Amino acid sequence: MLTALALLALAGCSGGGSPQDLARAAGTTSTSRSTSTSTSSSTTMPAPARVVIRYRIERDTDDAATANFASTVDATLHDPRGWTRAGFVFEEADNAPYTILLAEGPEVQQRCRPYDTYGKYSCQIGPLVAITADRWRSATPEWTADLHAYRQMVVDHEVGHLLGLHHRDCPGAGSVAPVMLPQSTELHGCLPNPWPLPAEVTRAARHDLPLAPGYEPGDPRDTP
Ligand SMILES: [Zn+2]
Repeated sequence: MLTALALLALAGCSGGGSPQDLARAAGTTSTSRSTSTSTSSSTTMPAPARVVIRYRIERDTDDAATANFASTVDATLHDPRGWTRAGFVFEEADNAPYTILLAEGPEVQQRCRPYDTYGKYSCQIGPLVAITADRWRSATPEWTADLHAYRQMVVDHEVGHLLGLHHRDCPGAGSVAPVMLPQSTELHGCLPNPWPLPAEVTRAARHDLPLAPGYEPGDPRDTP
């Protein structure tokens, strides 16, 4: 956990713990349409059950470069290329249990504790997704696509953690990056990508992952 990548992973990844159950109970409404909630992976699964994710947006910045935060988050979460494919229905509400925050580095650092975001990384911890404003403004040197795609990627990546997903590796040079690859710091030869790959959609659509996981040391990985 001493490398920058590992630290980013720590800042973004998390897992088990009983608070998840509270968060899940408070934050979602499961409206399963079928009883076939399989625990095995399938590429031919039927339409996934619907799980409602209610969220609120908080922006603790006031500059022009971050003025589009709420509209970009909303559009990304509702985009048919995103986590909606896994059966998640995103609803914005003032009293929602989950918060998607944009703030300056020191505030993100404070609110992501015990993760250390070093004043620049984004994180998900429990019901909070926190995105650092400087990266919203200018992405990172390692990012090779445009700024709008970076913003979509960081939303989908951190919300992916909120949905219980962990990091994935780049499968090989020239491959499209999984959205759960920590693309902010290193693409490992993968092509930048803001949207979940089919395998990631399939994993999330099983709806067997704890939502809003709390702090978890280490960097657990999801594998195909
Ligand atoms: Zn992450």
